[in-house]
Amino acid sequence: MRKKIVAGNWKMNKAFDEGKSLTSEIVNIYKDEVKDDVTAVICPPYIHLHSLAGIIGNTTNVFLGAQNCNDHESGAYTGEISVDMLKSVCATFVIIGHSERREYFGETDEFLAKKVDTTLKAGLTPIFCCGEPLEIREKGAHFEFVTQQLTNSLFHLSADEMKKLVIAYEPIWAIGTGKTASAEQAQEMHAKIRAHLSGKFGDDVAESISILYGGSCKPSNANEIFAGKDVDGGLIGGASLKARDFIDIIKSF
Ligand code: PEP
Repeated sequence: MRKKIVAGNWKMNKAFDEGKSLTSEIVNIYKDEVKDDVTAVICPPYIHLHSLAGIIGNTTNVFLGAQNCNDHESGAYTGEISVDMLKSVCATFVIIGHSERREYFGETDEFLAKKVDTTLKAGLTPIFCCGEPLEIREKGAHFEFVTQQLTNSLFHLSADEMKKLVIAYEPIWAIGTGKTASAEQAQEMHAKIRAHLSGKFGDDVAESISILYGGSCKPSNANEIFAGKDVDGGLIGGASLKARDFIDIIKSF
């Protein structure tokens, strides 16, 4: 059985007090309403992680993630955050290669391969993002584009390492635009991703990896999208900033 995971990427939103309130609300409603079989991951800005860990405590199946990390283990990298620092404040997941990091911070497939290595070495779980821009989708080259991203950043891993990853398919044209991929578009890409992983790492590995969908996912469309047999959850941006919406998406399974 693959893990069902819904991760909330807060991006650069929520001041400290707001972040604490949102987390308390999520944890309280999660405890009341959600069956433990769906893993929730909260990915706030770095500076909130330590305090939010205290709020989450040992709530079953609610975890903390970071939105990024540095590719080096430590050293003279002013302003950066290492994987060991993340571990020390109880983060267990790290989003790697979000399209905003690729676009605004110039992160390439090759560079992301290094971040994946650093994250795995530290024992953290990478949520590796992939996805095509609109012009690639319109040209019909989206399968090739996404599978190439995976090849470039992940195909140097061993099967055992690969098993530890979570993949998030996020069509860039659907992120924050209110335009969601259809359930069919999501399922067909997820199936392609799984087949591509299977070709390199074997069926057992490919079948064990959770593949999340991201892109304007909300309570009103999550149920349909999550029904795809290769869709194992979601990476949620905007809708993760409201506890009720985030929980309702988790409950869509
Ligand atoms: C994201 O940025 O990962 C995302 C999916 O955002 P949104 O849900 O707002 O489209």
